Amino acid sequence: MIPQFSPEAVSGIHQLLETPRKVVITTHYKPDGDAMGSSLALWHYLVSKGHSATVIAPSDWPDFLSWMPGCDQVINFEHHYSKAKQLTTEAEVIFCLDFNAVSRMEKFGETVQKSGAVKILIDHHLDPESFCQYTFSYPESCATCELVYYFLLALNPDATLSKAVAECLYTGIMTDTGSFRFSSMTADTHHLVGNLMKSGASNFNIHEAIYDNFSLDRTRFLGHCIKEKLVVLPEYKTAYIAVSKEELKEFNHKSGDTEGIVNYALGIKGVRMAAFFCERDHLIKISFRSKDEFSVKDIAAAHFSGGGHRNAAGGRSTESLDKTVRKFLDLLPGLKKDLNPENIANA
Ligand code: 5GP
Ligand code: MN
Repeated sequence: MIPQFSPEAVSGIHQLLETPRKVVITTHYKPDGDAMGSSLALWHYLVSKGHSATVIAPSDWPDFLSWMPGCDQVINFEHHYSKAKQLTTEAEVIFCLDFNAVSRMEKFGETVQKSGAVKILIDHHLDPESFCQYTFSYPESCATCELVYYFLLALNPDATLSKAVAECLYTGIMTDTGSFRFSSMTADTHHLVGNLMKSGASNFNIHEAIYDNFSLDRTRFLGHCIKEKLVVLPEYKTAYIAVSKEELKEFNHKSGDTEGIVNYALGIKGVRMAAFFCERDHLIKISFRSKDEFSVKDIAAAHFSGGGHRNAAGGRSTESLDKTVRKFLDLLPGLKKDLNPENIANA
């Protein structure tokens, strides 16, 4: 989709960026391709315009994103706490990309909130919190990278995108649309992606860098999840996988290794909802996915302190892994009608 930005907001930011500024760009905890892609694309642009910009990630990111141009300059808040805090406190402008709530930055959120910088949110998740002076929220957009593309053009209609910017934006749109297949992918977005290719993004190289680059441990972990851990509940058109800390350790887990595994559960014929439960140090992280009209966002928000989109959402629980799965299973009878819409028609 093509977002219609408020001309007043764009002109306000244009004025703000007319003089070189100290800028921090941040995104959500455990950043994915869209989070890193949008942050780095904006970073390349701002640096090329003479700003002193830094991308600060609230945590580490998957190895398969490390090839992205500029990634070696990103500061991990958890590893470089003082530096990140100093930059954020001194920043004049903070861009918040690809998230809608302060809590999505985890511990880094407090530092961002305390900073006196002008804050600008660019995001595509529903129901953004109002913690920024400027909020560009377009839940219909397939990716924050799509929004950043139009944002850069709005700031500078004559801008020619560098190869680095094009590669970063391409990565985010590709990863957030399941390689251009989700319903959020419009003809306009295909056109945009074509422009990114003309600016130097190689579809083949980027796809290979992201999807043909798994460690052997991760591939074996995927096999373990599918063979040993996948549970299918045909009555509820639901499938789930739950993995413990010990299992992650057994497969030498690295950041990003669990990404995408939930899709194998969703990909089973007849399944409309899939969940992936993963035990982390102090909480259980949950990924929800669904097909067509069935919304997992509401389940994540109502029962697992989370949110997201209709067909892709996430949440958390501080209960044990077993109790968290139990809580999920206990919800299913109440969701049965929505999961089996043909039953409603026949009722
Ligand atoms: P994933 O399952 O890939 O981690 O996340 C799927 C979607 O749900 C993403 O759009 C993500 O932003 C959202 N999401 C994941 N975890 C959380 C969470 O803890 N809180 C909220 N509000 N959204 C989340
Ligand atoms: Mn995104």
